[in-house]
Amino acid sequence: MAKKSVLVIGGGIAGIQSSLDLANMGFQVYLVEKTPSIGGRMSQLDKTFPTNDCAMCILAPKMIEASRHPNIKLLTYSEVEEVAGGFGKFKVKIREKARFVNEEKCTGCGICQEKCPWKVASEFEMGLGQRKVIYTPFPQAVPNVPVVDRENCVYFQKGKCRACEKFCEAGAIDYDQKDEIVEVEVGAIILASGFDLYDPSGLEEYGYGKVKNVITAMQYERMISASGPTEGHLKRPSDGATPKSLAFIQCVGSRDTRHKLYCSSVCCMHATKEAILANEHYPELKSYIFYTDMRAVGKRFREYIARAEQEYKVTYIRSRPSEVTENPDNGDPIVWYEETTARARTSMEVDMVVLCQALIPSASTKEISDILHLSLNDYQFINIPDRLFHPVDTEIPGIFACGFCQEPQDIPDSVVQASAAAARAAEFMSKGD
Ligand SMILES: Cc1cc2nc3c(=O)[nH]c(=O)nc-3n(C[C@H](O)[C@H](O)[C@H](O)COP(=O)(O)OP(=O)(O)OC[C@H]3O[C@@H](n4cnc5c(N)ncnc54)[C@H](O)[C@@H]3O)c2cc1C
Repeated sequence: MAKKSVLVIGGGIAGIQSSLDLANMGFQVYLVEKTPSIGGRMSQLDKTFPTNDCAMCILAPKMIEASRHPNIKLLTYSEVEEVAGGFGKFKVKIREKARFVNEEKCTGCGICQEKCPWKVASEFEMGLGQRKVIYTPFPQAVPNVPVVDRENCVYFQKGKCRACEKFCEAGAIDYDQKDEIVEVEVGAIILASGFDLYDPSGLEEYGYGKVKNVITAMQYERMISASGPTEGHLKRPSDGATPKSLAFIQCVGSRDTRHKLYCSSVCCMHATKEAILANEHYPELKSYIFYTDMRAVGKRFREYIARAEQEYKVTYIRSRPSEVTENPDNGDPIVWYEETTARARTSMEVDMVVLCQALIPSASTKEISDILHLSLNDYQFINIPDRLFHPVDTEIPGIFACGFCQEPQDIPDSVVQASAAAARAAEFMSKGD
């Protein structure tokens, strides 16, 4: 008989949705997430297009539901190491990395993070803010249990400090904690390992890392977010001034024969959202969106763009800028471009540039696809052999893939695919042998 349990790999919105669907059908779910908290990229977003709902307000209840569901076992800060067997009976080995904090004892009070004297750049804040060396990635993290970043911990590196241990009244700090191997047997597997951001510093013409007031869209999301490092205020990296004009550049590395050939799918819409939010925060601010061609294919997307133009002073310029330089007198970025509708070469000086860079399969996609014996497509996303009639089935029976790991897609599409993958897994497991 097929096992009535499922392994879900990746705790972003897609993995959470699949897990909840299957758990509510009565299946036992093991949800494995490699970072210290579930939530994925959606937890970094301020609002979501096209409704401008607060991303965390929608996501947090699902994260909590997943953590409290009696049929879901959360394995965060964990990675799948080995998968043997086949459909109906996969044998899985998962490495649960040492957090150096006892989950049973930790009360989530946060005093260890407050008292830790050491800080490093925060991955969650995209390098715009800092985190402590013992940390939870963000305040609503699930589970609300910190991890000690061993690489940067002064006690682990130099044998001195132990401040977190001294102040932890619950006695939860455990420097001797070891990684643990958890072994489970499951009937089906769902892969939802999501995406990463292409490094734009390789596209030298856009000045990222050289022109100070050029940032990426994910950095912008953190800046405009009330819980972000600037508490929702837009600040130019060079002088902290509030920008009065923004240029969003689309297809940075996407649809580019030198980098990634494919369309990253969500950038036309997230740039529109980001420009709307800028104007909501600062009604005098003017945004320009430099786009290749407008990909607004979802429900109410065209109306969203029309609203951006009419109500929020957003100007769309059909053009692919060739260069961003810096005005040495004031640090302003200057965008050089051809106005393709007018066939004119020109430039525009703005206060800040936001690069909408290509979105690529998450760094571990290759490794996890090898473990699961899955092939990748030309763009290194998970290969789906029959997109037409089996859009979430991989080539291995009993293994399904959903969300961004199989192709660029927005949150609603990821949720649809996640529910489809859960339904397919349930169907397979219900067949019996
Ligand atoms: C700047 C920006 C703004 C956006 N704005 C919007 C918006 O407003 N509206 C919208 O609909 N969409 C938006 N998107 C797209 C949205 O972020 C994605 O559609 C969504 O995050 C996809 O969810 P996912 O669960 O597939 O992937 P992810 O959110 O990437 O989650 C994947 C999870 O899997 C984990 N993981 C990866 N590898 C492994 C492994 N080997 N083992 C265990 N865990 C693993 C990751 O740590 C992560 O937690 C935006 C994207 C960007 C870049």
